[in-house]
Amino acid sequence: MGRKFFVGGNWKCNGTSEEIKILLSLLNAGQVPSGDVVEVVVSPPFLFLPSVRTTLRSDFHVAAQNCWVKKGGAFTGEISAEMLANLRIPWVIIGHSERRALFNESNEFVGDKIAYALSQGLKVIACVGESLEQRESGSTIEVVAAQTKAIADKISKWSDVVLAYEPVWAIGTGKVATPAQAQEVHLELRNWLQKNISAEVASTTRIIYGGSVNGGNCKELGAQPDVDGFLVGGASLKAEFLDIIKAAE
Ligand code: PGA
Repeated sequence: MGRKFFVGGNWKCNGTSEEIKILLSLLNAGQVPSGDVVEVVVSPPFLFLPSVRTTLRSDFHVAAQNCWVKKGGAFTGEISAEMLANLRIPWVIIGHSERRALFNESNEFVGDKIAYALSQGLKVIACVGESLEQRESGSTIEVVAAQTKAIADKISKWSDVVLAYEPVWAIGTGKVATPAQAQEVHLELRNWLQKNISAEVASTTRIIYGGSVNGGNCKELGAQPDVDGFLVGGASLKAEFLDIIKAAE
């Protein structure tokens, strides 16, 4: 056990340089739990990554929101994992449901991207999650297990992976999963890791929840035994993000 609480802030495609300056001063001045109990990572759009990395308080880290599936080259518009590593960006989010749905990223493609990012020394927030239709048809566990398997087939370095369970129906909708719903899927994911990878990977891998997390619902969600933190979208653009970090206490 002893999994360190993890809170990620996914800024998505939001922010002007002025807005980001304001957000950074809020974050930099904020009180967070003492005693090294929480790991905080914020994920600005690519353009702002280097400046955020240098301006952000040193106890928080940065993540890219995506990267290319293999070595850079003739791939117009893409950013490679080795570029992120070169600029000392330690984390990358891969397989977010918006990438899967809007940019047609398949389970296999997500697995390949994660494997390549890990091979370049990046740490990965790997996202899985079912749609509303899939939940209503009772296939939630099957869907997230297939997404996790496509990752597991390509990687072995689980120590550099945080698994984010983000039900698509909860993302940006204000319809947060109940603590029991989150706990159920997190436990299933942990059991899947235990059965298919190892007991050690199952007990050490952080499984975080994402989807309409806010200052009001984070405490109860974070108290679930298999919820090891959050990936936060909308609320990560506000001072409320600091309250969510406090759920680690
Ligand atoms: P949300 O987004 O908190 O705005 O629902 C979560 C995410 O997409 O990671």
